[in-house]
Amino acid sequence: MQVLLVEDNTLLANAIVRALKSAGFSINHVDRGDQALSAIKTSQPDIVVLDLGLPDTDGLEVLKSARKFGFSNPVLILTARDATSDKVLGLDAGADDYLAKPFEIDELLARLRALERRLSNVKSHSIEIGEVEIDTNSHEVTIAGQGISMSRREYMLLKALMESANKIQTRDVLDSKLYSWGEEVSSNTVEVHIHNLRKKLPSGFIQTVRGVGYVVRKQSGTG
Ligand code: CA
Repeated sequence: MQVLLVEDNTLLANAIVRALKSAGFSINHVDRGDQALSAIKTSQPDIVVLDLGLPDTDGLEVLKSARKFGFSNPVLILTARDATSDKVLGLDAGADDYLAKPFEIDELLARLRALERRLSNVKSHSIEIGEVEIDTNSHEVTIAGQGISMSRREYMLLKALMESANKIQTRDVLDSKLYSWGEEVSSNTVEVHIHNLRKKLPSGFIQTVRGVGYVVRKQSGTG
């Protein structure tokens, strides 16, 4: 589960990053609205935790823009204490939940887990393209009913490609699905994992779009 944290208060942000990492979330942190929008566009986080008082813009504007360009994953807003109007405006602008500052980190974790559950209920538990099927709950992959084993990163790449079938996934987007911000990513990591994945999948399942990225194609009339 990849979380984007948008928070300009360094102390609070660091505390949240630490807590979420140790709770097993993959977390990216930015502290400005413009960075938040470009991160939402490029890495499509599963959940966004969004402070409303940002140095360059109002968090509500970030939320509205993100919803306008089609970002539909959950957004939890962090509001100033007692600012009821902030909460109402935030929910109207497309937020899924809110937390008033100051809050306990445990409370934030509980809210994120609830959003995570909601997200996985909405999303179908299995994705099937041709003979390949993945179960997004159990992380099992089968080809023509035969279970195959793969590493966590291979699974994450395959899932990203199958979830966005027929859409070309750039190497940057795939990279960002694999790693949190700040971790070393060697430039050929995605290629290496794709190479290994291809050995396990039907030939031609993952197609290379030269100079751009990769795509899994779903033929109309199947799956
Ligand atoms: Ca702030």
